[in-house]
Amino acid sequence: MKVTISGGVHGNELTGVYIVKKLMHDDFQVKNLQLDFLLANPKAIKECRRYVDKDLNRSFSKDALQSDEPIYEYERAKVITQKLQDCDFLIDLHTTTANMGITIVLSNQDSLSENVAKILASEYENVRILQWLSNDEGAFINSIVPSSITIEVGPVCQGVLDANLYFQTLKVVKRAIDILEKEEALQEKVQAFRIYDAIDFPRKDRDLNGMIHPELAGKDYQLLHPGDPIFLTFDEREIFYEGKEAYPVFINEAAYYEKGMAFCLSESIFL
Ligand SMILES: [Zn+2]
Repeated sequence: MKVTISGGVHGNELTGVYIVKKLMHDDFQVKNLQLDFLLANPKAIKECRRYVDKDLNRSFSKDALQSDEPIYEYERAKVITQKLQDCDFLIDLHTTTANMGITIVLSNQDSLSENVAKILASEYENVRILQWLSNDEGAFINSIVPSSITIEVGPVCQGVLDANLYFQTLKVVKRAIDILEKEEALQEKVQAFRIYDAIDFPRKDRDLNGMIHPELAGKDYQLLHPGDPIFLTFDEREIFYEGKEAYPVFINEAAYYEKGMAFCLSESIFL
């Protein structure tokens, strides 16, 4: 089985970049797998920014892969698609500014991906599973491989390393490889979360007109009830949640301001 570990799909998410660099430098290999490493967006990594022209992790749709537009990330997406042609399992490393601990994002709905995520979540207290299957903007890198997990760790600022999170993430990556190598399986159901919607900031003429309410800040994966405060406008008016009970995630994620997402709503499921 060929397993690829990728970092730097977003150039300012340094944990993944430096884990991939370390594993490459150590020439980390295991017996029964073929391990390969990928620094996905070299220009963005060099400039320590999320992307150069467009978000690379929204550049793997059919349209983007067939596009002739001179967009750096579209060119990278084509190169990466070639490189990952024979990849069986992708471990893609990201960070978030939200308080999400170690979140295993599942974008592939197959038993191998789910099995690895379930074993990790059952073994580590701060590891959670988040299913995120679709997005309106264009496909994730996961869409070009049969199986994958995306590891999102936070809270950590863009362009910043956190030693604790770095080593926790490295431990989880090595355990994921171990699970694949030993072909371990877990039959029991494990709690997970599934994103079903996203909420935008309050806006006035499309510009921001408020911030995440201090009472919601940092409360990722904590049950949100109708009537709970979610935003505070610039004139200190509170805005309250009106939907059904949900588990908010990616609260105040820096990269999602431009996507019109203040936080996402998820529901509890069992995988
Ligand atoms: Zn990312």
